[in-house]
Amino acid sequence: AAPDKILTVTNIEVIYDHVILVLKGVSLEVPRGGIVALLGGNGAGKTTTLKAISNLLHAERGEVTKGSILFEGEEVKALSPNLLVRRGCIQVMEGRQCFGHLTVEENLLTGAFTRRDGQRAIKADLERVYAYFPRLKERRSSQAGYTSGGEQQMVAIGRAMMARPKMILLDEPSMGLAPQIVEEIFEIVKMLNAQENVSFLLAEQNTFMALKYATYGYILENGRVVMDGAAQALRDNEDVKEFYLGIA
Ligand code: ATP
Repeated sequence: AAPDKILTVTNIEVIYDHVILVLKGVSLEVPRGGIVALLGGNGAGKTTTLKAISNLLHAERGEVTKGSILFEGEEVKALSPNLLVRRGCIQVMEGRQCFGHLTVEENLLTGAFTRRDGQRAIKADLERVYAYFPRLKERRSSQAGYTSGGEQQMVAIGRAMMARPKMILLDEPSMGLAPQIVEEIFEIVKMLNAQENVSFLLAEQNTFMALKYATYGYILENGRVVMDGAAQALRDNEDVKEFYLGIA
């Protein structure tokens, strides 16, 4: 595999329940240190692609039946989801999935569960996460279930950071959030990318916002990549403008 690519997905097919063909040959790449957007409407196959990468399809009776997924040159099929986390590939699920009854800080600490280094290193990383998300520091003792949607998304990303990720698979972070909050979250993603060298694969229906922060994008439709290109080229593309940006 090319060492400058942290992730290389080649022609994967995914089938649910042995019969439902959902991904029909998807290929994509994430350069090391890049932010890549995976775009497309409801049901296009974005979440399925992310779960295939983090080897989480089994729980949904899904299976990668063709193609290959290499994370840092290693076939992910051969790795358990747990081992993938330890290698630095972390998924942030759609709908944030915070533990509502735990505090913000307890939620963040759950992100360190696969780590074998000591409490001191984990504490230092907690402070680092708070430096990126000052709002979480203010709310560290609040029950996560009582924080706002934007704060819960921050908790979910902060928790991923606690695992010392090399790559974060971020599923629909903008879902249900006001544009201003979405912008705030994407600004933090940009900082984590630039300062912590975390690569991102960003699944989004919010095409405009995603292409503002990503350098490259893939558009999925019905389980296939129908278009890909540099973010700027996609934003300027007439079809993208018409179908995804709503500005004909
Ligand atoms: P969304 O934004 O709604 O999450 P998506 O682009 O992420 O959309 P997926 O969730 O990957 O799309 O779904 C792609 C297709 O796979 C849809 O037609 C969906 O109904 C189907 N699908 C998803 N999960 C399963 C499952 N566990 N069993 C059967 N079909 C599924």
